[in-house]
Amino acid sequence: MKHEDPVLILRRHFGYQHFRPLQLEIIEAVAGGKDCLVVMPTGGGKSICYQVPALLQPGLTLVISPLISLMQDQVSALKSNGIAAAFLNSSQSLSEQQALVEELLLAEIRLLYVSPERLLTEDTTRLLSRVKVNLIAVDEAHCISQWGHDFRPEYSRLGEIRRVLPDAPMIALTATADRLTRQDISERLSLRNPQGFLASFDRPNIHLKVVPGQDRIQHIVQFVRKRPGQAGIVYCISRKSTESLAQKLKAQGFSVAFYHAGMTPQARYRVQDDFLNDKLDIMCATVAFGMGIDKPNVRWVVHYNLPKNLESYYQEIGRAGRDGLPSEALLFFSYADVIQHRQFLEESGQAEVMEAKLERMFQFAQAQMCRRRILLRYFGEELEADCGHCDTCESPPASFDGTVLAQKALSAVARTQQQVGIQMLIDILRGSQRKDLLARQFHEIKTYGAGRDVPAKDWQAYLHQFLHLGLLDIAYEHGNALTITGAGKEVLLGQRKIQVVKPADSAPVPAATPVGTAKDRFFKPLEDALRDFRLQTAAREGLRPYYVISDLTLEQLVQRLPLVPDDLDEVEGLGKAKQAKYGPDLLRLIQQFLIRQTGHEGQFPKGVSPKVTLACYLQGWDIATIAQKRQAQPSTISGHLAGLFEEGYDLDLASLMKPGSLEILRQVFALLGTDQPLKAYFEHLHGSVGYDDIRMALVLEKVKPKARG
Ligand code: ADP
Ligand code: ZN
Repeated sequence: MKHEDPVLILRRHFGYQHFRPLQLEIIEAVAGGKDCLVVMPTGGGKSICYQVPALLQPGLTLVISPLISLMQDQVSALKSNGIAAAFLNSSQSLSEQQALVEELLLAEIRLLYVSPERLLTEDTTRLLSRVKVNLIAVDEAHCISQWGHDFRPEYSRLGEIRRVLPDAPMIALTATADRLTRQDISERLSLRNPQGFLASFDRPNIHLKVVPGQDRIQHIVQFVRKRPGQAGIVYCISRKSTESLAQKLKAQGFSVAFYHAGMTPQARYRVQDDFLNDKLDIMCATVAFGMGIDKPNVRWVVHYNLPKNLESYYQEIGRAGRDGLPSEALLFFSYADVIQHRQFLEESGQAEVMEAKLERMFQFAQAQMCRRRILLRYFGEELEADCGHCDTCESPPASFDGTVLAQKALSAVARTQQQVGIQMLIDILRGSQRKDLLARQFHEIKTYGAGRDVPAKDWQAYLHQFLHLGLLDIAYEHGNALTITGAGKEVLLGQRKIQVVKPADSAPVPAATPVGTAKDRFFKPLEDALRDFRLQTAAREGLRPYYVISDLTLEQLVQRLPLVPDDLDEVEGLGKAKQAKYGPDLLRLIQQFLIRQTGHEGQFPKGVSPKVTLACYLQGWDIATIAQKRQAQPSTISGHLAGLFEEGYDLDLASLMKPGSLEILRQVFALLGTDQPLKAYFEHLHGSVGYDDIRMALVLEKVKPKARG
């Protein structure tokens, strides 16, 4: 079937310039009537894959989505882009439903979101059989499979929709599905010879960093202080630690709350809503937080503790940077986390598999190679080169011969009859006066104080490496005492050498360092003004702030400084509907910001000065006034205006000239041509027409014939 170019739809309705990987291929397949199975990581841009096809031709696209909250968000996002969308679920009143049915029958709605339990009611199926349904999209399709990690019984009957709507092609989408689950999805939905799309799981915009879990609080305080106003999540292992961490951060003046399954549903809903509405920057949460929320502008995720496996870790850090902007994942780890997870596993009687996965997680945290490479390999993908965007890529660890260090530690373990844990061992090596140490007479053994020159936290890091290298073991059944392995004995006896990595220098950065670059500080007032506008508009319209304007759009507004409506076409994320609705306010805020810069010459970041002139021109000021306000030469101002005109801005330069100059100059141009230096025209007219007018008349003459804008 013939239809409009998908990229035009993308630009007009969503304001995005280009498709992301696989989106166009998927859209074409769907538009060609094929069933599709799409596996794409969170933030990959799955929604566009059915939202653009929905707009390619008249008719309805049915979207089946398991979570009511997400459904509402998606519908309001679509509406904010001027797309007729609606949802049908149990939270609606009868009259709302009635109104909706009429709109559906009038074919006014393009996308209808339905919960699975609602879909297969008689009312709904009868209704659907009277509407032209072009496409069925099943979001979070893994929920249909027993193999998936999130099976939902209400999904299990979904396959029946095929009988109700036998002609509509179907697209199933999910962020997590191994081969078995994919097959299962396909069978249960009765997909017909589906075309599979498997996107890379790489999330290159997320920076990965892992640090040993010492001084976590201090580290986190510094981390968030350097990221003011950014939204982030700190995942903690226990409910109690979410609360205590939130309290500590609050004491430091941060906008923070906690979230865990032990709270009342109302309390949970409230903090989650505040977080989604940008009223709250930091959420200290257990892993219960984040499922089924879609906040594209989470800028960072910190793991206060080691997650239980790499799947969880990847899913949790995946909540950062769904909008594709640079984001960060910071993981703290310690052996104590591993021990605690083991206890959980034992208590819940979980299988060895989980134990092995925990081990992989710990290895990842300690690894000395590109983190992304390890992660992607774990998920069955090979990265061609190191990513260059993780801590190990950025500062490859320097290793050295650690045999003597290991011998000191091993010897102390041997001399205490393998009865002490990590902390006591460090205290012995460092010659501590701890009472219980003295009471057990550990100060009398030969290695007491032998490691004084190594800081305690470095010892901790080395001991982890010894564990990792298999020189030491931990006897969980004996109070976590360290024991020496066969390999450890070889090192102790000098039969084997080992390499260790120098622990990263985690010297804290002084807290007073100014935040951001000079350029960031220059634009800060504008950014604040735009954010305020976004918050107020969101509150007024009952929308999530990032559905009003996304962070990417915000960033581009600051970068590009649009001043006239045409400029808005180049700003990512502003489709025609949003341009019409928010454009005038955005342009006004930017103009006001630039006008406030007049009189502060010489401090502008590159490219800003002509924009200030343009803002003044749009204010209706003439060249003399602008020059005076800006304490600049008129020639600078006329130069700016001429340059802007050349760039395609439709400025009424003639109105800025002395009456009659333009006509005179045109005659002179006819005589002398337009390639002379300005001086030639000036002298030809014996100074009766000023340089500013000549400059502007010249661009008018030269640029006008070209098709502009
Ligand atoms: P997923 O459902 O795969 O997690 P979404 O569909 O929510 O991802 O998309 C993630 C974010 O990326 C959204 O903010 C969306 O608007 C944005 N996005 C999707 N496609 C594009 C594109 N082609 N260009 C720019 N942004 C896009
Ligand atoms: Zn890397």
